[in-house]
Amino acid sequence: MDFIPVNEPLLNGNEKKYLCECIDTGWISSEGPFVKEFEEKLSASVGRKYGIAVSNGTAALEVAVQALNISEGDEVIMPTFTIISCAMAVTKRGGIPVFVDSDRDTWNMRTDQIESRITSKTKAIMMVHLYGLPVNVDEVLSIAKKHHLKVFEDAAEMHGQTYKGKPCGSFGDISIFSFYPNKHITTGEGGMVVTDDEALAERCRSLRNLCFQRNPRYVHEEISDNYRFTNLQAAVGLAQLERLDEFVQKKRKMGRYYTEMLSDIKGVSLPIPKDSYAENIYWVYGILLDDSIEIDNRTMIKKLGEKGVGCRTFFWCMHEQPVYREQGMYENEHYPVAETLARKGFYIPSGLALTEEQMSEVVRRLKETLTEIL
Ligand SMILES: *Cc1c(COP(=O)(O)O)cnc(C)c1O
Repeated sequence: MDFIPVNEPLLNGNEKKYLCECIDTGWISSEGPFVKEFEEKLSASVGRKYGIAVSNGTAALEVAVQALNISEGDEVIMPTFTIISCAMAVTKRGGIPVFVDSDRDTWNMRTDQIESRITSKTKAIMMVHLYGLPVNVDEVLSIAKKHHLKVFEDAAEMHGQTYKGKPCGSFGDISIFSFYPNKHITTGEGGMVVTDDEALAERCRSLRNLCFQRNPRYVHEEISDNYRFTNLQAAVGLAQLERLDEFVQKKRKMGRYYTEMLSDIKGVSLPIPKDSYAENIYWVYGILLDDSIEIDNRTMIKKLGEKGVGCRTFFWCMHEQPVYREQGMYENEHYPVAETLARKGFYIPSGLALTEEQMSEVVRRLKETLTEIL
């Protein structure tokens, strides 16, 4: 069998039809009608009043951070084990990301460490749901309330997931999604900010578009960027959103299949199928090499690559990023679980277009690789 890619999206619904509509009507820019429709449908699907579509998930975080006025010296508490988009959105505004470690079982941020990291400069908590299970949202919200902090929710990987039955993307002051091709629904590149606060939504709209004022146009009182989202992206997004339930079911089925097929192998930990808040939706299917295995994730994915299985390592911790270390930040900080996840975690092919035949082949080649190194 040929190379099995780490991710391939499913685009066989109404994507082509809606894209053709864009071409036929000439509406391809961010002014096209699908953008508003997609914003309305996606925000409604998570119970939010307003949606502001932007060029990608990172842009959504940047817009959200600026909209909540995070600025010079403001501290934002977040997991160190996450994508750099979270930290970068804060440092770009002159703010300072402050970290907590991760939970060994769920791979999510340790919410019990948040309070000890609060100082007089703390302005917000950024909760990031990772790999398929939600963060302990109630604890984040109650700490935020007690200390008068704002709450960002990064739900980039959580399309269709819930926390205690309520949709991810509905918590805190502002939530964001990404539509990168490895997310449960994709628009190629794309993202969205969702909120219930009308003034905040209006500000995000302005930040998305260079802070243009309605009147007079071309006169600016604030600086932002061009983060606009096109009608072509929205066309794909609408078609994808129609199938979200089906996609979530498929991902869960894939997760269950891998877990069953891999349950007897030694030397690795698998994602937990559910916790007390939700059933895993397996954004991607992650695997953690146990301490007993000497090789790290980079060596592992290289070996799997040689066998024709496309894999990726987990995120690299924020406190260990060269770009921050060379500014003298986080020098003596350690987060043992997060550091282990970054060195021992990787994920195997888990895109929506993956067939059962491919999955069974992934399992076979993975087992073979592990036998070789054990
Ligand atoms: C993918 C992702 C992002 C960034 O989204 P892009 O669209 O790739 O910019 C942000 N946060 C998390 C947790 C992600 O997984």
